[in-house]
Formats: sequence, structure tokens, C-alpha cells
Amino acid sequence: MSGKLIILSGPSGVGKGTVRAKLFENKSLNLGYSISMTTRQPRPNEKDGVDYFFVSNDEFDKKIAQDELLEWAEFVGNKYGTPKAYVDSLLEKGINVLLEIEVQGALQVMAKCPEALTIFLVPPSLEELERRIRGRRTEKEEVVQARLSKAAKEMATKDEYKFVVVNNTVEQAAQEIEDILKAQG
Ligand code: 5GP
Repeated sequence: MSGKLIILSGPSGVGKGTVRAKLFENKSLNLGYSISMTTRQPRPNEKDGVDYFFVSNDEFDKKIAQDELLEWAEFVGNKYGTPKAYVDSLLEKGINVLLEIEVQGALQVMAKCPEALTIFLVPPSLEELERRIRGRRTEKEEVVQARLSKAAKEMATKDEYKFVVVNNTVEQAAQEIEDILKAQG
């Protein structure tokens, strides 16, 4: 049986990565993670091939031209995309694949795979989101501002998703998502 495609979106800084890590602790969910490709520079704690495949703009454009990406989008000056072959190979093995992607890419996947389980993670408030983005302390002020204004726009698309989950705490958000995944079989 083929695995399920799961999309987890939400504004930058909402805590998608932390919730994702919590979900992966639960082996019974049978989750595989699709590592994205990006032209963004790695943050100090990030590793190539683990957090992302970090590539040049030319390499990225080649992947687009060769139709190797399931979806891709530009986000605050950088490109991000999902390599298609890896996702397909996991799904064929019956593994549920989690895509942690922003909304433009998510809309592309929804159009191609309407059966995908789509979840939008929201912060308890926009003030809390700003606190979380600033708490990361890895971005310059202009990048923080760009991500905040992007966040407000992204929040407006949450109704396109099948489920909206509030990230009050990592444990509660992960639990709600686990319940959703189990209820969907
Ligand atoms: P960050 O630079 O903070 O790692 O990611 C910026 C945004 O890009 C986040 O919302 C993240 O979920 C999203 N993102 C990461 N990988 C992909 C991808 O493969 N495709 C798309 N469309 N968005 C992605």
C-alpha cells in the first residue's frame, strides 16, 4: 500500500521544525522526511544533506528545467523545492511522507495531489510569532521584517488547508497532529 503525503505549513518561526521532530519520535506514525533543496545559505547549526540540500541558484534552476521538483517556490529571496524522486520512492514503500513547506509550494502539491493531508500550524498570536522569530537570533533585522510581513500574508491562506493546529506547546501541537494522522488511517 502506498504511503500518505502530508503537508505541514505555517509561517516562518511558528515552530514547524520542532513539531516535526516531535512527530518523528513516534515511530508508529511511519513517517519519512523529505529533505528540501534550497539556495539559502546554511545557518551555523545546519548541515548539508540533513537540514537541506544547499545548492547554487544555477543548480536549482537545472532541477526545475529537468522537472525533478514536485514543487518549488521563492521565499524571502531564496528558492526552496522538494525533490520528486525521493518522495515517490518513500510513498511506494508505504512510508508516509511529511513535507514541511511554505504555502505557495503547498498549493502546488494540493493541485497535483488533492488527497494529500494538509495541516497549517498557527502561532498563539502574531506577537508570539515575532518573539519566536527574534529569539532565533540568526537573521538580520531586514530579514526578520521580511519574514514577519510574509507571515501575515501566509496566515491568510490557512483556510486552504484541511486542518489548522495552534502551536501553543510542542507537545500539544504534536499530539493534535498525531490524532489527525491516526484518524485519517
Ligand atoms: P527557512 O529558511 O526558515 O528554513 O524556510 C523558509 C520557509 O521555506 C519555511 O516556511 C519552510 O517550511 C519553507 N520550505 C522549506 N523547504 C521547502 C520546500 O521544499 N518547498 C517549499 N515550497 N517551501 C519550503
